[in-house]
Amino acid sequence: MKVLSVNAGSSSLKFQMYEMPEEKVLISGVFERIGIENSFYTIKINGEKIKKVVELSNHEDAVIALTKELIEFKVVNSLEEIEAIGHRVVHGGDKYSDSVVITDEVLTTIEELSSLAPLHNPANVIGIKAFKKVVPNAVAVAVFDTAFHQTLDESEFLYSVPKEWYTKYQVRKYGFHGTSHKYLSERMESILGKGKKIITCHLGNGGSLSAIENGKCLDTSMGFTPNAGILMGTRSGDIDATIIPYVMEKSGKNLDEVMNDLNKKSGVLGISGLSSDSRDIEDGIKEGNENCILAQKMYVRRIVGYIAKYYVFLQGVDAIVFTAGIGENSSKTREDIMKSLEILGIKIDEQANNTRGEEIRITTEDSKIPCYIIPTDEEVMIAKDAYNFAK
Ligand code: AMP
Repeated sequence: MKVLSVNAGSSSLKFQMYEMPEEKVLISGVFERIGIENSFYTIKINGEKIKKVVELSNHEDAVIALTKELIEFKVVNSLEEIEAIGHRVVHGGDKYSDSVVITDEVLTTIEELSSLAPLHNPANVIGIKAFKKVVPNAVAVAVFDTAFHQTLDESEFLYSVPKEWYTKYQVRKYGFHGTSHKYLSERMESILGKGKKIITCHLGNGGSLSAIENGKCLDTSMGFTPNAGILMGTRSGDIDATIIPYVMEKSGKNLDEVMNDLNKKSGVLGISGLSSDSRDIEDGIKEGNENCILAQKMYVRRIVGYIAKYYVFLQGVDAIVFTAGIGENSSKTREDIMKSLEILGIKIDEQANNTRGEEIRITTEDSKIPCYIIPTDEEVMIAKDAYNFAK
């Protein structure tokens, strides 16, 4: 069965088509600058990468261009062959603890949840509608970033604020990157067996950690929004909320400007004053740049803080897993984290830790807790859920 995995952003659309259940990637690509001048798309097929510059005035144009390419490259003979489409949807609120087939009612709910994810859900809805128009016969499935975290106990998901903030306004911890954490949890189950306690570290430009027991998420570091938990490329992570009105008063900035600072100008970028990208930070550290050294120190300490918290919370841990851009590629960051955890009996396998982007154990045989790199694959998770419904 041919299944599409789709991730629609406000001006972009990423896709991957699979032959299921083999999970074979047939074609993948990304449409960029949709609705902006100089729009283009890139496609990967048969080991080749193709770039085309075309006008894409909206997402429907992108979907039409995509379907034409699918036919031209003979990935499908007709659009009827696309039996299922899985859509990444950022926010499912507390309505969805699993993926669902997108009915009119579900689409309305996703639209209503836009107040919780104003930058993401509207774009996801545009993507869903565009595919519905162009490929109406495919089963459309929503796969939520928040769903995996719906198993948190209320003692973990509630903030210690007036209860009506939750009951009236849905203020609670939702958590994000759920599809990635779930993928890591399932991979670790297949490596170590069921019933294990795992700490998953999704460390990319955004970053979050989860505490998982027997495949169930018990806590996660992101919160009501993705700007909670560890510091990230440009996001502050946890701060004292009272800083916001204080800085507004002192700087004369309005709320939007301060929130923009917290989301786009903080984190590793804010502290280093140089870049949000860990490659630049690592270069800066080599050159003795004090701000880069400090940014890396803070980054690692916050992560280690969450691992320590989850270690106690889970009453021990059977494995720690690293994924995403930094988690998969930065041996230095993994090493800095694991060295800070030596007290737990973690022993690094230097050679294995110098590996990049492949699934591998990076601690020695006698390490009390094994650590792994597991390259994440949210696209295949989305395709699997879509396939399961269509089947
Ligand atoms: P993601 O959001 O998962 O795509 O991760 C993006 C981030 O991964 C970049 O901003 C970099 O900080 C980091 N990254 C990617 N490649 C490398 C690498 N080779 N070494 C260190 N960090 C990397």
